[in-house]
Amino acid sequence: MVVRPTEDFLQKDAETIWHSMKKYNPASTMIVKDAQGSWITDVDGNKYMDAMSGLWCVNVGYGRKELAKAAYDQMIELPYFPLTQSHIPAIKLAEKLNKWLDDDYVFFFSNSGSEANEVAFKITRQYHRQNNQPDRWKFISRYRAYHGNSMGALGATGQAMRKYRYEPLGQGFLHVAPPDCYRSSHRNDGTCCTESAKDIERVMTWELDETIAGVIMEPIITGGGVLVPHDHYLKDVRKICDDHGALLIIDEVINGFGRTGKPFGFMHYGIKPDMITMAKGLTSAYLPLSATAVRKDIYEAFKGTEDYDHFRHINTFGGNPAACAVALKNLEILEEENLIERAAELGDRLTVELAELHSHPNVGDIRIKGLLVGIELVESKASRTPIHVDIVQKVIGNCKERGLIIGKNGDTVAGYNNILTLSPPLSMTDEDFAFMVSTLK
Ligand code: PLP
Repeated sequence: MVVRPTEDFLQKDAETIWHSMKKYNPASTMIVKDAQGSWITDVDGNKYMDAMSGLWCVNVGYGRKELAKAAYDQMIELPYFPLTQSHIPAIKLAEKLNKWLDDDYVFFFSNSGSEANEVAFKITRQYHRQNNQPDRWKFISRYRAYHGNSMGALGATGQAMRKYRYEPLGQGFLHVAPPDCYRSSHRNDGTCCTESAKDIERVMTWELDETIAGVIMEPIITGGGVLVPHDHYLKDVRKICDDHGALLIIDEVINGFGRTGKPFGFMHYGIKPDMITMAKGLTSAYLPLSATAVRKDIYEAFKGTEDYDHFRHINTFGGNPAACAVALKNLEILEEENLIERAAELGDRLTVELAELHSHPNVGDIRIKGLLVGIELVESKASRTPIHVDIVQKVIGNCKERGLIIGKNGDTVAGYNNILTLSPPLSMTDEDFAFMVSTLK
C-alpha cells in the first residue's frame, strides 16, 4: 500500500530548491525517495526503472550496502585529510586505477568531471610552458560535446545553448564538427570520420600548430548525440596530435567504468591518451570524486627541479578518503560481478532486440556501444529531418507512464534534440532488460 507523504514536499521543493536545467514545473518534478538495483521509487510510491542511471552514472546500480559500508568504515577511521599530504585510500585507488591502465599514469583527484577537465587543461598549458613552448595554449574540441559547467570546461563544450549567457568563458577553445556519420554527406562509409579528423589537423595548421596545446574529446560523444565513430577515427586523431605536438585528453566521464563494454571507451580504439579524465562511474555516483590521469612522463616534468615547477592547483575536497574508499569498492564490484563484460553482452543483445525498430518509419539510426544507446528519431527515413522535440518528449512521457525513465540529447537551437538515450545500470537483471526493451518498443 502506498503511504502518501504527510508533508507537501513539492511545495517545499518549489520554495527552496533551484534545479539544474529545468524550468520549475511541479507536474514533472519527481521527488525520489529510495532506490534499489535499477529501480527508483518516488515519495508517492511510484516505481520506475531508471534506464539513465541518474545522469549516466550509477553504473553498479542503487542500494549497494558494500559501498555504504566502505564510506562508513572510512569515515570512522579517517574522514578527511587533504591531498597536499596523502592517505591510504587515495594510494590504493590510484594503484587500482593503474591496474586498469597498464600502470602508465599518475592521478590528480578532484570532485567532479568539470574539475577533472580543468585540471587537464591547466596541466597541459603548464607542461608546454615548461618545455619552452609557452605559445601552446589553445585547445581543440568538438561541437556538440559537453565537458562541464565551469568556465574552462564550458569553453571546451560545443553546445551553444549551454554557453551563450555566460560568455566570455575560458579563452582559447576552438571547435570542429564531430563525426556525425549518419548525417555526413559521406554517409556511413568511414570517410566521415577521416574528414572529421582532418578538420582537427586543418585547424591546427590554420591556427599555427605551435599555438595548439591539446585536443579534448570523448571517445563516443554522449550528451551530444551518442555519436559512435568508426574504428580508425581516434587513431587518426592520436597521430595528428603526435605530428603536431599537441596532447590528447580523453574525457571518460561517461564513457568510462564499463559503460561502453570496456573499462574505458578509448580501449575500443587502440590508442593511448596523454590524459584521461574520469568522474561519474568512478564511484557510481555514491560520493563525489573525479580524477585526471596523467601519463607518467608528463608528470615527471612537474616534480620541481631547477627547470620545472610543481602544479599550483589545490582542491580541498578532491580525493576525499571516503570517496576514494567507495571508488575502490565500486571498481571491485565491477570486476567481481563481471559488469563490464555484461555491459558488452547486453549491448550485443540490445542490438539484436532493437533491430526491428529499424523498420519504424520514424527511426533514423540506432547507435549502441555496450550500454550506451542513442536512437535518432526523424520525420522520415528519406529526409533524415530531426523529428519535432514535442514528439520526442511524448515518447519519453509515454515510457515514464509505463514506468521507464529514458533520456534525450540535445540542443533545441542546434537541432539534435531528436535523439533518445539510454544508459541503464550495468548491473541490470535480465528481467530489467526485458522490461526496458519491451517498454521501449
Ligand atoms: N564530461 C562529460 C562527458 C560529461 O558528460 C560531464 C557531465 O555530464 C562532465 C564532463 C562534467 O561532469 P560534472 O557534472 O561531474 O562536472
